[in-house]
Amino acid sequence: MINEDIIDTMVRTARDAMQKSHAPYSGRPVGACVLASDGTLYSGCAVENAAYGLSCCAERVAIFRAIADSKREFDAIAIVADTDEPCVPCGACCQVMAEFKIRDVIMANLKGDVELADLMDLAPCATGKARINGQVV
Ligand code: ZN
Repeated sequence: MINEDIIDTMVRTARDAMQKSHAPYSGRPVGACVLASDGTLYSGCAVENAAYGLSCCAERVAIFRAIADSKREFDAIAIVADTDEPCVPCGACCQVMAEFKIRDVIMANLKGDVELADLMDLAPCATGKARINGQVV
């Protein structure tokens, strides 16, 4: 598991990214920060569209930015929103996390609540290259 200093940095980075969200339809900005295994952080924000299906969650924006920068290995992802409970990723984002073996999920809100979860506890049915014999490796 990653240490508390990097968790704090990731949550702060995700919170800053949240402010850049384009969320006029849901009114719910979300920010994310993914930690590549080389230590690089990539942030992402929610990007909504009038055609709702074209919207993209902050988590996937962060991951896709890292992929576009040639990163393929990751240690963790943080998600922040102004929610009562720490912000939980949707199933689509969990599936993308499984593809890239992102196991450690840091969920937070603006009140300062932070929870850590294993991806397989959040989305045990997520599948992809990351799953071998029923286990994410
Ligand atoms: Zn999502």
